[in-house]
Amino acid sequence: MTIGAIARRAVRRAPRAPKIAAVLQQRTLKSITRAVGVGLHSGQRVELTLRPAPPDTGIVFRRTDLPEPVEIRMTAEAVTDTRLASTVSTGGAKVQTVEHLMSACAGIGIDNLYIDITADEVPILDGSASSFVFLLQSAGIALQKAPRHFIKVIKPVEVREGEGANVKWARLEPFHGYKLSFEIDFDHRVVNSTGQRVEFDLGSGSYSRDIARARTFGFTREVEYMRSKGLALGGGLDNAIVMDDTKVLNAGGLRYDDEFVKHKILDAMGDLFIVGKPLLAAYSAFRSGHALNNKLLRELLAHDDAWETVTFDDEKRAPAGFADIARAW
Ligand SMILES: [Zn+2]
Repeated sequence: MTIGAIARRAVRRAPRAPKIAAVLQQRTLKSITRAVGVGLHSGQRVELTLRPAPPDTGIVFRRTDLPEPVEIRMTAEAVTDTRLASTVSTGGAKVQTVEHLMSACAGIGIDNLYIDITADEVPILDGSASSFVFLLQSAGIALQKAPRHFIKVIKPVEVREGEGANVKWARLEPFHGYKLSFEIDFDHRVVNSTGQRVEFDLGSGSYSRDIARARTFGFTREVEYMRSKGLALGGGLDNAIVMDDTKVLNAGGLRYDDEFVKHKILDAMGDLFIVGKPLLAAYSAFRSGHALNNKLLRELLAHDDAWETVTFDDEKRAPAGFADIARAW
């Protein structure tokens, strides 16, 4: 027997080191990535640069086109306008239409990110979150030496508006994981023929495949009206499902049978991630939108006894699938 062989045997016989539980860690990007596109409403060209950020930074937009760059940190209070999209602002600086990019960050589990932007609106790209998912995944996901903080809902909260046929509501309830269910009620020939209710569980790892590709949608009459008001200037068949009174006008049709309601789940995930940390909750909503989603977050935060911040020292105790979300591509 050679000395080398003895050494190898000795290594094989060495007692195993005790297993140390793996902490569920925060995540950022491995490298910088860029995109160029147009804003849906402004129609102006905008450049996005996504940069890795240190632990506990959260998601921070930086308006780099202003004489003095302004940072806008994602918190429920940063949302200042929800009429057409979710707009966040700090002082006089704003960024519109953050929800699809925020949805991609929530969907693939990014905690910390600097988003440098050269205009006041996130580019619409293809009208879904899939281009953002592709960008984030191409840059690579880096695990960071800090535990991931979640906002865990421990008591139900609900917001409600309107009555009868106009009622809409949104609710958060305790759940070990993150699942969303949404129901729309669009009385339109095309939408009626598709599913108007959908449920999605983030722990399934299928965000990129099942939700991220759902596009925003609009009707030709609305688009004409919005253009007359100087809005939706960058919108068209390349970045939205557009319908007239009877049919979808996009040559390729729908990406999912239930693409309309899936886009509402996509939007809700983006709107809710503006709270700054991933949620552990069951979200359910009927005819909700950006305004009601933000109201729901504020309602949650206003009740100290309805939530707490938690971490997982052992990722095995985290909800099923959560440790794999960023790797599921
Ligand atoms: Zn949307």
